[in-house]
Amino acid sequence: MSRVVFVNGEYLPYENSKVHIEDRGYQFADGVYEVFAVIDNKLADYDAHMSRLLRSLSELNMKLPYSKKSIFFHISNIVKHNLISNGLVYLQISRGVASRDFKFPNNTKSSLIIIGKNMSLDEHTNAFDKGINVSTTRDLRWKRVDIKSLNLLAPVLAKQAAYEKNCQESWLLDDDGYITEGSSSNAWIYRDGTLITRPVSNSILNGITRSTLIRGLKKRKIKYKEAKFNLDDVKKSSEAFITSATQHVMPVVRVNSIKIGKGVPGPRALDFSAAYMESLKLTEL
Ligand code: PMP
Repeated sequence: MSRVVFVNGEYLPYENSKVHIEDRGYQFADGVYEVFAVIDNKLADYDAHMSRLLRSLSELNMKLPYSKKSIFFHISNIVKHNLISNGLVYLQISRGVASRDFKFPNNTKSSLIIIGKNMSLDEHTNAFDKGINVSTTRDLRWKRVDIKSLNLLAPVLAKQAAYEKNCQESWLLDDDGYITEGSSSNAWIYRDGTLITRPVSNSILNGITRSTLIRGLKKRKIKYKEAKFNLDDVKKSSEAFITSATQHVMPVVRVNSIKIGKGVPGPRALDFSAAYMESLKLTEL
C-alpha cells in the first residue's frame, strides 16, 4: 500500500504531496508543529501534545484551522492508512499562503499537513542498549524556544555538527556554559542519587516526555530536581539521558570526551524508562 499524507483537507500519495511556494511556513518558518509518538497503534500523550500545540499557536497569534475533533479524525486516518503500529505522526500548521510580506496576511487560512512514519522498534532497543553519544555546541537559537515553531535552522546545524563527530545528539550551551537542552530533546543527568533537568522557561521546550517522566519519578519516589547544570556537573554524573516523544528515555554514555559512568547505560536506565512508560497516557484510534 502506498504512503498517504494529509495536505490542507486532502489525502494525497506521499510522492505527489505539494505545498504552495508562497506558503509562509516555507518562506518564513512562520508556523508550528508537533510530533506525536505512536506506540502499539495508540497515540502517546495526545492531549498534552494538543495542549502544547494550542499554546504554540496562541503565542504566534494563530488558530487551529480545523476543529480538534476533525484533527483527531485526520491523525487517526493517517495512522491507520499507513499501518503505523510504532512510529510517529508529524503535524505542521503554517500561517498559510500569501504574497510574500513580513507582516501577517489578512483572512488567510492556515495550512495543515499531517505525515505518519513507521519507526523500527529494534533500532530503538539497540540504541537504548548501547546508549548514545552527545557533543556540545553553542545554543544559537532565538529567545522563544518554548514555542514549538518551524524556526529550526540552529538545531539543524547543531545536530549536523554532532553527527559529524559520531554523536547522535547535540547538547546546547547557553552564554554561561549551562546546558539548555538537546537539539531535539530535553537533557538530564543523574548525580548523587538525583535526576536533574533544567527548569522550564523560554530557553527550553517544555517536553511532553519530560513532564510524563517527572510524573513517573514522583510515583516511584525517585529523587529529581529541576536545576541548571553545566559540563562540570556532567563530569560528576553517573548516568545521563535525553527525553523526547520518539526517543522516550534514552541513555547518554558520552558527552564530548567525558565518559558517563562505565561508558554503557547505567543501572538506573531501565528504572527511569519504566517510570516514563507506566505514566504515559495512550489514546486508542
Ligand atoms: N526540546 C526540543 C528542542 C525538541 O525539539 C524536543 C522534541 N520535540 C524536545 C525538547 C522534547 O519534547 P517532547 O518530549 O515533547 O518530544
